[in-house]
Amino acid sequence: MMARVDCLATVFVEDIPEQLEDGVLYVSRQCHVALHNCACGCGEEVSTPLVATEYDFVMEDEGASIWPSIGNHDFPCGSHYIIKRGRIHWAGKMSREQIEAGRAYDRLLKRGAQPKGLGAILAWFKRLWIKFIS
Ligand SMILES: [Zn+2]
Repeated sequence: MMARVDCLATVFVEDIPEQLEDGVLYVSRQCHVALHNCACGCGEEVSTPLVATEYDFVMEDEGASIWPSIGNHDFPCGSHYIIKRGRIHWAGKMSREQIEAGRAYDRLLKRGAQPKGLGAILAWFKRLWIKFIS
């Protein structure tokens, strides 16, 4: 049963639950991770490490935001979206270039980036963000 969700309720947990419910974002500050079932309804589990080099997590009254975007290009569904204040903003499939840029960004961060190259990629990500959110 495929049921796409358009918002995620945030639940703070200590331990990672074994079964995830659709439409729920599980956040474990202890384990520095957020988990949810892919918002497209395919049933794949999405794990987002909440560490400085991976994802930023912000909790507001309206709901949770995670940045950068969730790109499930390793799943058959290939879905791509942004979680902003508890809502799913669908971003369309990432192109090969976008995926590569994302990976380059990861590599740079993990290596302890050179400010110059990182700046360019960060600017690219900001543009992407603005495009999908506004
Ligand atoms: Zn999916």
